[in-house]
Amino acid sequence: MQGQYVLQPLVVGRFPAFPISKFLYQNNSTETIEAPCISWLARSSSSNSVVLVDTGPAVPTKETSKYHQVLDVKEEHRIDKVLLAHGIDPQEITEVVFTHLHFDHCSYAEHLPNARIFVQKTEIQYAVAPNLEHRNGYDVGYRNVLPSWMKAFDKFEIIQGDVEVAPGFRILALPGHTPGSSGAVFDTRTGRHAVVGDLVNQIENWEGQGGKHIAPTLNCGVDLCFASFSRLEKEADVVLASHDYRMLDSSQYGASK
Ligand SMILES: [Zn+2]
Repeated sequence: MQGQYVLQPLVVGRFPAFPISKFLYQNNSTETIEAPCISWLARSSSSNSVVLVDTGPAVPTKETSKYHQVLDVKEEHRIDKVLLAHGIDPQEITEVVFTHLHFDHCSYAEHLPNARIFVQKTEIQYAVAPNLEHRNGYDVGYRNVLPSWMKAFDKFEIIQGDVEVAPGFRILALPGHTPGSSGAVFDTRTGRHAVVGDLVNQIENWEGQGGKHIAPTLNCGVDLCFASFSRLEKEADVVLASHDYRMLDSSQYGASK
């Protein structure tokens, strides 16, 4: 059958103690949780399409560890090494979608030599000159720090809005966490699966409370987040989280009924 994908979560780093209040808007808890950085691999059963959605954070440096949340990333978390550990040649990756350009989502794509990398124009524009309060997310304005995504800039395909990349694989513009956030939606045997970056950090962002989704605390507009949630309700059957260990309870998504 045409355009059916199987998805797999790959752990490419972890925050040992991330405040829950930063994931869930208006949550006043002082609790922290261990949170993985997940890169999603999507393989087509009918073509050679092998897609990665996000590629994770870089190994912290003396400079970046001053202003990022404490992050555990080692050399073995590098996306090409993680792929090899799962028996996948990094050269096989045909497409990468960057859901957004925060430091924990877009490192080491320069090690995926054959990938086309899709990013929203709005996101690139914002990433090079963010507001002061967002510059640590984008690694902008610090001496001796170059944003990770710039190392793969030669492979960028700059998009605006929604794009159908291949049968069963679409990119949707889903602003809210950042101005140019995207999601990737894959047709699978068990319905349309969406990977949407940090609009859905934790399962609770999507499943919500009292029938209402929960915006991410780090956002560029709560109304934008809710407009994107509404779109997702129509465009996806399953929405996957970006920083939630419970996603690893299954090693594959979309494989069989
Ligand atoms: Zn993130």
